[in-house]
Amino acid sequence: MRTVQNPLKSKAMKCRICGGSATIKLESHNLKICEKDFLKFFEQRVESAIKEYKMFIPKGRILVAVSGGVDSLSLWEVLLRLGYQVVGYHLDLNIPNASEPALEKVQAFAKAQNAELIIENLSEFLPASLEQASKIMKKPTCAVCGMVKRYRFNRIAGEKKFDVVATGHHLDDESATLLGNILHWQEGYLTRQFPVLTEREGMIRKVKPLVFVSKEEIEIYAKLRQIDFIRSACPYSKGATSIIYKQIINQLEKEMPSTKIFFLKTFFKKYRAIFKEDKILANQLKPCSQCGYLTIAELCGFCTLKNKLREKA
Ligand code: SF4
Ligand code: ZN
Repeated sequence: MRTVQNPLKSKAMKCRICGGSATIKLESHNLKICEKDFLKFFEQRVESAIKEYKMFIPKGRILVAVSGGVDSLSLWEVLLRLGYQVVGYHLDLNIPNASEPALEKVQAFAKAQNAELIIENLSEFLPASLEQASKIMKKPTCAVCGMVKRYRFNRIAGEKKFDVVATGHHLDDESATLLGNILHWQEGYLTRQFPVLTEREGMIRKVKPLVFVSKEEIEIYAKLRQIDFIRSACPYSKGATSIIYKQIINQLEKEMPSTKIFFLKTFFKKYRAIFKEDKILANQLKPCSQCGYLTIAELCGFCTLKNKLREKA
């Protein structure tokens, strides 16, 4: 794993905020900072993204999707500290050697914080493993997993009357996705790439409060707040193209600090509007004939999968 802190070895660094001794150096902000001020700096930046993009109101009921990884647990921690009404939601995907320790981390975090947590297991609504579902749908495991997660986030948030679902997507995720979408001119995806996806009939509002903080900053934050998270990657993540884009954009960031934030913020402010929503596609969205979830086909992906599993049984 990358070293996330750069304790001074040769010469003393001064914290730019308080003038005390700094132990963290953030190249992308050209900032040397002490631990106490870093925590404030981090939490303030998350809060200002929430406000700037009007992600939710102070009294809104927020469901935070938690996998047990550093990003989602850090997001849960920040939202609790900022005083929002937030409940964790964990979907146990039954992935061998990965899901059990992930669930343990999530449960331990909720217990330590005395925070409300909703847990569901994939087997409660899908009589197959992700691997079997991926074979039946003839799609990569991650594509099926993403579809199932989006479906369940939406359902659970609707059933339990939440206003919004928050996910731990951060600057590295979003800038790498943007790079991939531009390289392949994925106009539909470029339209939808934003820190907020507004609600529409049957679809819950989705927000990304960590959109402007990097993975490196999240790791420092988790370390300072003593958040215990799962460190091993999901076995199905191997070979994902997103990893290649992340490597490329991290190389650019290393050579030219603050490239990621400039790339993403400028896209949101100046260029996203160019990629207008595909009105024809948007108008084709209609409720799934089986469950009511918005889809462009007769049946949504989740019901298609369920029906295929039923036929095989
Ligand atoms: Fe799901 Fe793929 Fe993420 Fe694993 S890596 S949790 S299969 S989306
Ligand atoms: Zn459906």
